[in-house]
Amino acid sequence: MKREHLIKPVLDHHYPTIQYGKGVYLYDDQGKAYLDASSGAVTAGIGHGVQEIIDAMLEQAGKVSFVYRSQFTSEPAERLAKKLSDLAPGGDYWSFFVNSGSEATETAMKIAIQHWQEKGRLGKNKVLSRRMSYHGITMGALSMSGHVLRRRRFIPLLEDFPVVAPPYCYRCPLNKTYPACGLACADDLETAIKRIGAEHIAAFIAEPVIGAAGGAVVPPEGYFKRIKEICNRHEILFIADEVMTGIARTGAMFAMQHSGVEPDLMALGKGMSAGYTPMAAALVKDHVMEPILKGSKSIMSGHTYSANPQSAAVSLAVLDYMEKHQLVEAAKVKGSYLLARLERLAEQFEPIGDVRGAGLLLAVEFVSDRISKLPFPAGLGLTSRIIDKAFHKGLLVYPAAGGVDGAGDAVIVAPPLTITEAEIDLLVQLLEETVREVLQEISGFDRG
Ligand code: PMP
Repeated sequence: MKREHLIKPVLDHHYPTIQYGKGVYLYDDQGKAYLDASSGAVTAGIGHGVQEIIDAMLEQAGKVSFVYRSQFTSEPAERLAKKLSDLAPGGDYWSFFVNSGSEATETAMKIAIQHWQEKGRLGKNKVLSRRMSYHGITMGALSMSGHVLRRRRFIPLLEDFPVVAPPYCYRCPLNKTYPACGLACADDLETAIKRIGAEHIAAFIAEPVIGAAGGAVVPPEGYFKRIKEICNRHEILFIADEVMTGIARTGAMFAMQHSGVEPDLMALGKGMSAGYTPMAAALVKDHVMEPILKGSKSIMSGHTYSANPQSAAVSLAVLDYMEKHQLVEAAKVKGSYLLARLERLAEQFEPIGDVRGAGLLLAVEFVSDRISKLPFPAGLGLTSRIIDKAFHKGLLVYPAAGGVDGAGDAVIVAPPLTITEAEIDLLVQLLEETVREVLQEISGFDRG
């Protein structure tokens, strides 16, 4: 292998060099165009190369890019926190700014634990999550995640936080069917709480729509209302991980708005700055902050770049752009157009077992048999084959660990919210060619 210096995800893989991006396209140094139907990692929500954001970056850089949060505050950070609170379900949120989704979920976890400590409830320090979940790559965030592959290497170093059943109706982990199930997956949280003891539990964390660990898995109607009711009854804080779903992606500014639930804490990232700069946040309801304000008056966490004015100014510009171009509405309208097109694809290809999602966070799950929903053998690497073939054709889609515990195949389709219908048509055409060719390649595989 050639000696290099940049550590890339797969060390012996060739990654094209991108020279610039415009709208939904990225262009490499060979002149090849890529239709970014994954918004990178479901991040570039307003597309690439937007002039208004570049202008806002330059304007802030001309004033000051960095101040240290222990010494100063800044106007962009103050304005951004107020704006997020105004937009969030029910308002009344404080913001703690960080730099990645992992830091956001981990900060939310720490604040939840501190909340109980300030109230003298020192034993409440476990965080429950769901078996199909991804809340980040750092040790604390991984401890709260059910993503088998990303955890495996570090299991001995992780906190042994319990997980409960996910709301994965396509393959119900409890072998039930909605609505006859009576939301048994939500009640599984209560069973776990009773087993562990609420006096040991600080919080429950969940993605409103499961992303990388399942592929745009939308919970059944009433699920989060039940979850919140269970959390309230047992004095457990509810953290919504909106890192992937937040900031208009699902056709609402926050995906929790679809279920009418106001989380005690939220984690935001990705779409918050739409990829123009690292930016993320833990949002904390006023009642969660209250004992901290009365007590130690300081959150025992933070990073050097937390609340830096440069990233805050970019994030404000992204939110302004979204409002100006009505991108919440666009996610809804373009999302249902794309969903209908993907559903038509499923009529063409027997191995497409499920098409699902919300707004422009959609996914296609593949099965070797539609009736039994049996996944393809892992050794076939179907998801990778589809991602690679699409990439070759100039289409970017995002891998998801479909199936229970990642034992299945799914790809997420989540283009920038600015995508046009004509661009969606091209996206679907490229995906159709990809699926056809990959299925031909594997047509003789051994189902045993
Ligand atoms: N939570 C969710 C739901 C995510 O999708 C991700 C990233 N895929 C994270 C947390 C972690 O975010 P980051 O990669 O920015 O640390």
